[in-house]
Amino acid sequence: MTEPTLLLFDIDGTILTSGGAGETALRLGFQEEFGLVETLTQVEISGRTDSGIARQILAKHELEATAENLERFFNGYLRHLEGLLPKREGRLLPGVLPLLEALLEMPNVCLGLLTGNLERGAFLKLRHYGVGNVFKFGAFADDHHDRNQLGAFALARARALHGITFAPESTFVLGDTPHDISCARACGARVLAVATGSFTLDQLAPFQPDALFRDLSDLPAVLRALGQGS
Ligand SMILES: [Mg+2]
Repeated sequence: MTEPTLLLFDIDGTILTSGGAGETALRLGFQEEFGLVETLTQVEISGRTDSGIARQILAKHELEATAENLERFFNGYLRHLEGLLPKREGRLLPGVLPLLEALLEMPNVCLGLLTGNLERGAFLKLRHYGVGNVFKFGAFADDHHDRNQLGAFALARARALHGITFAPESTFVLGDTPHDISCARACGARVLAVATGSFTLDQLAPFQPDALFRDLSDLPAVLRALGQGS
């Protein structure tokens, strides 16, 4: 019997691309709620949490990150995201669907999310691209604005849901940015990095993920890297 394995997936650049719907929704939601023009210049987005991005944008406009301002920001974002997803040419990234289908058949593998998306935004995206039912739990931007804090939330929820304390060597974060790699290290997990987001293989390699792939389309190799299959 193989050791129970926990796989924590990032969403944008790892599972899917929203074809720019996410960034446009951030911009338009902010503009509509606050009546200010936002171009997203000097705002770091890849690998950051939505709550961290909201704080960056509010600070740029000298607005305080009060609970009320954050809620207005998130409501504007989510409203636009829902409308934009069908209008943009997003898609699941190569190999993702066969990988998820294979993993769902494996009784010792538990799937969760470790994402900078707000929970509602995460499931808007996943449902839109047909994989909304794959994930039963996760850690989200709602939990903390610092991605490095999210691993602990995901591990606690995995434990509560499955009744298993997953060993660090049997826990993997799958992500597309150096921030995914550092958040995995922060909770002692291994990392599979994939260059389907805004970072290339050469840019990810120096951060020393445990496995690094151009995309997830080589199913046997990806499963081997995750300790599954021979
Ligand atoms: Mg990502």
